[in-house]
Amino acid sequence: MIDNIIPFNRPLYTEKGIGYTVDAITVKKKIIGDGEYTKNCNEWIETNFSSPKALLTTSCTHALELAALLIDIKEGDEVIMPSYTFVSTANAFVLRGAKIVFVDIRPDTMNIDEKLIEDAITPKTKAIVPVHYAGVSCEMTTIMDIAKRHGLYVIEDAAQGVMSKYGDKYLGAIGDIGCYSFHETKNFTMGEGGAILIKNPEFIERAEIIREKGTNRSQFFRGMVDKYSWVDIGSSYLPSDLNAAYLYAQLEEATKINDERLKAWEAYYPLLKDLENRGLIELPLIPVPCIHNAHMFYIKTDNLETRSKLIEHLKNDGIGAVFHYVPLHSSKAGLEFGRFHGEDTYTTSISERLLRLPMFYGIADKEISRVSESIHGFFN
Ligand SMILES: *Cc1c(COP(=O)(O)O)cnc(C)c1O
Repeated sequence: MIDNIIPFNRPLYTEKGIGYTVDAITVKKKIIGDGEYTKNCNEWIETNFSSPKALLTTSCTHALELAALLIDIKEGDEVIMPSYTFVSTANAFVLRGAKIVFVDIRPDTMNIDEKLIEDAITPKTKAIVPVHYAGVSCEMTTIMDIAKRHGLYVIEDAAQGVMSKYGDKYLGAIGDIGCYSFHETKNFTMGEGGAILIKNPEFIERAEIIREKGTNRSQFFRGMVDKYSWVDIGSSYLPSDLNAAYLYAQLEEATKINDERLKAWEAYYPLLKDLENRGLIELPLIPVPCIHNAHMFYIKTDNLETRSKLIEHLKNDGIGAVFHYVPLHSSKAGLEFGRFHGEDTYTTSISERLLRLPMFYGIADKEISRVSESIHGFFN
């Protein structure tokens, strides 16, 4: 009998977040989008991550869709990205008629292999979408240089990368546009939600318009126009201020929350190191100059069969460990909307070996020890 489950994730909440949410309802009496808490979140992101413009969205999926609208993706355009990612990275561009060109990942970080990007560029290529897996940055110096030389946009899928850095720059604030997720499985959460960060000034005004149903309502509220009207295509990508209130309390404590997660990550590492030394598993690598946010702690087993058995073993010990993406290029929609450029040397083979261990704010040291003991029990 297991009475003591260690789940894969426990969604983050703070007491203050509950207080702010109640305040939005009962004191501010404003729960629609773009209330005070949404503005606080936007400004917090802009100030702390040196982003010229940040806007909360209803999800990272929607932030990516907004990005695809902003760079004016049209039928037949090509967008380069890794196949080892979430469906939304691709869907956002497929919805606008783009063809997805997948390139292989690096086996050490699971990120797009920057050395393979240039060969995948054609006259139809419009953008590169680096995905910062596990909150560990892609090689952004190389990627920004390729984009500049070929006149391409860079849209960062930084869903997992809030608080992470590449050198002294925050992920999401490096490319033309960056997209964050505040889904309940991410480091900071508002249940469902996200943000778009805009560095390229040509997109700032239009982002506000598209996000507000194609109207110039934001300019109206700032007193810049005397009435608002339909001025462009658009949708509704702004979240309720209720969700923003819940999130803002976490952003105010972002450093503490991030430090706690890093402590948990750093607790796992030495406990599992002997298994790596014995050649039984591989541990994650954080290359220079990446500063990560402990979004994930994953290990790699020798093959798919070992991983499946280990998941089962951990489950029997009451521990939630899960695998991750099934590569997009070999999935039903991926075959239809994309193509893989070059060889799939690592994407499929390594994705089959990767296993994510329980990792969340507030995971106890003794829970981490129990996970480690269970993994040791499996291999001994
Ligand atoms: C979570 C995630 C998304 C989607 O985020 P939502 O906020 O749930 O839409 C997109 N890309 C990556 C890499 C993710 O991890």
